[in-house]
Amino acid sequence: MFDSIEIFSIFSTFKSIINNKNMFGFDIGYIIIAGVFGLLSMLVSGRLKSKFKKYSKVQLRNGLSGAEIAEKMLADHGIRNVKVISTPGMLTDHYNPANKTVNLSEGVFAQRNASAAAVSAHECGHAVQHATAYQWLGMRSKLVPVLNMTSKFSMWVIFGGMALMSTTAIGGTIAWVGIGLYGIGTLFSFITLPVEYDASNRALAWLKNKNMLTQDEYAGAEDALKWAARTYLVAAIGALATLLYFAMRVASRD
Ligand SMILES: [Zn+2]
Repeated sequence: MFDSIEIFSIFSTFKSIINNKNMFGFDIGYIIIAGVFGLLSMLVSGRLKSKFKKYSKVQLRNGLSGAEIAEKMLADHGIRNVKVISTPGMLTDHYNPANKTVNLSEGVFAQRNASAAAVSAHECGHAVQHATAYQWLGMRSKLVPVLNMTSKFSMWVIFGGMALMSTTAIGGTIAWVGIGLYGIGTLFSFITLPVEYDASNRALAWLKNKNMLTQDEYAGAEDALKWAARTYLVAAIGALATLLYFAMRVASRD
């Protein structure tokens, strides 16, 4: 545990990072945060890929392909207006609420293993959320068009505002607008969390209740989905850390 002197020195180090406006024209604090979370995100998605590969070798005893599992899960939930289609790439699987399609990557669509079962059931989990008007999914869908606009330039508005702060009063206002825009993206990453965890929970509950998998197959599916969820968790915490960092920097100069 930290004692008070340690806490003080951590605090003053943190404060000096925040007040360290520029070093050779770079924002050191931001580079540290972006570096740490970039690395963490690489580690977690690397782990996800290796887990996915590992459980791809666990062949299903029931012999069903990802597509067949998806069709069965949709049917079991009384969903008849959602199509299961194949999409190119690896880990490109997604549910598209706009045209009601469960898009499974080529491997997941055709293969008959624990990873394919986990991913196809997870994507159907999103279809079930859509069919039952799960509120977090609705909220997330509403934010998508706003996010497409703000995510491209929010960081530039923050940097532009901060650069202007030393010369003009409006710089601070611009920086806060940028932080607000970035905040929309942060909110989106947090709304994504219940959506993703819930889709996995629905997938695992169905796989278990319908006795789709053996114990080993189920354990693999559960582990793969756990790592998939962690990629979203890292992204959300990284966005929040960046948001707080810039808010503190602008507040300390405002
Ligand atoms: Zn998902």
